[in-house]
Amino acid sequence: TREIRLAARPVGTPGPEHFTLATAELPPLAEGQVLVRNTWMSVDPYMRGRMDDAPSYIPPFELGAPPEGGAIGEVVASRSPDVQVGATVSHFLGWREHAVLDAAHATVVDTADVPATAYLGPLGTTGLTAYLALTEIAPVREGDTVYVSAAAGAVGSVAGQIARRLGAGRVIGSAGGPAKTALLLSEFGYDAAIDHRQGDLPGQLGKAAPEGLDVYLDSVGGDHLDAALEAMRPRGRVALVGAISGYNATAPVPGPDLYRAATKELTLRGMIVSHYLDRFPEFVGTAIPWILDGSLRTRETVYEGLEQAPEAFLGVLGGANTGKMLVRLG
Ligand code: NDP
Repeated sequence: TREIRLAARPVGTPGPEHFTLATAELPPLAEGQVLVRNTWMSVDPYMRGRMDDAPSYIPPFELGAPPEGGAIGEVVASRSPDVQVGATVSHFLGWREHAVLDAAHATVVDTADVPATAYLGPLGTTGLTAYLALTEIAPVREGDTVYVSAAAGAVGSVAGQIARRLGAGRVIGSAGGPAKTALLLSEFGYDAAIDHRQGDLPGQLGKAAPEGLDVYLDSVGGDHLDAALEAMRPRGRVALVGAISGYNATAPVPGPDLYRAATKELTLRGMIVSHYLDRFPEFVGTAIPWILDGSLRTRETVYEGLEQAPEAFLGVLGGANTGKMLVRLG
């Protein structure tokens, strides 16, 4: 059988030289295993990250071995009572014509009503990503203005329509080029489309969403995320799903690398205390006993006299204080 192997680790943008086509011997089927003739395989942006030998949320692909990845195939031999010969299965041993795997790692899919390829797209991990991003990570609420980047791709083409179903009032997508932006409007349920190749994302976003954004599903990172953060309304929600603009970067992109927030599934949440002043009674009531029993220890740095106020202020910016910086008056 034939398989594609990772021949070399790319630096920057990968090319054909990083892959080789090879012939492999199939191992005999062990008890509980199935032999699948693959009919479809998925290629996904996250695979770029797995080509690097760097620690991440998922191990790197092995050099000289076929990469892993979503695939659909037909079971042609089975030593498992759970999976019959002839079944269509979804699994993660793509990049090869045949796969031998434990039946437990194959999911039988129902192709009576939908084509098998749906399980690599709208019913696969990309569809699930769109659904989870807009229901759990950055939930869409009735009437929200929702923005999705890479909107004509696998995640994005589904995300706009899911946003609509969840009651979004206005759904905006960005994609590269006029053909894709036209499709966003005619096929994928978007109300407005931004062509990122035209530049000026903040300006285009401002026009598409003059009242600002409530939800952003970020697949791109970089300038897309920057423009979206600028356009977000207070207390909006952002799902950090991908950062494809940086996947081939050879040097760190300036600014914090928020893709780490995606891979570590972090929660980043802003706050401005003046919006929570009604919480003072609760907090003071809680903290006075901590001060009284000595369990809340504090320090003060005190500058003497009004004339020292400027110096105290400059000092607090520069680290002259430990604990609370204060000026004693009178
Ligand atoms: P897509 O089908 O969306 O394909 C990627 C698209 O990204 C391209 O078609 C291109 O569209 C766009 N793109 C590439 N480079 C840039 C750039 N520099 N600026 C703007 N757009 C760019 O892929 P997927 O739907 O599979 O994945 C979309 C994103 O979601 C990726 O970031 C991926 O890593 C992430 N993802 C995350 C998952 C998770 O579990 N967190 C799961 C699945 C996907 P265009 O022509 O419009 O520019």
